[in-house]
Amino acid sequence: MSDNEDLGLQLTKAELKKVARHFNNHIGERTCHICGSKHWQPLGSVHTSVVFDRVNNHHRQDRVIPHVSVACMNCGAITSFLAGIVGIPHRDLEIEPVVAEDANESDG
Ligand SMILES: [Zn+2]
Repeated sequence: MSDNEDLGLQLTKAELKKVARHFNNHIGERTCHICGSKHWQPLGSVHTSVVFDRVNNHHRQDRVIPHVSVACMNCGAITSFLAGIVGIPHRDLEIEPVVAEDANESDG
């Protein structure tokens, strides 16, 4: 696989920081729900849940729910967030994602 093909798979360092910041903002000091560890690590790519068409009783390959995750490095439990809400685009990568600014968030 060429470097160019890898571009779509790997989150950038800035995106990994977004995942970690989002997680820290919402999970904070809470520990892993399985083992109680605080050793979390963001995963380096976007993953998807497949959408199920409940009328036609099959998976829709044209619809996915992209999410980014952090994993407990002690037991492997994974916690995921919707990629769009975290600010990680999954198409039109050259376009900045539109993310609502949090009015309560301060920069310092
Ligand atoms: Zn754990």
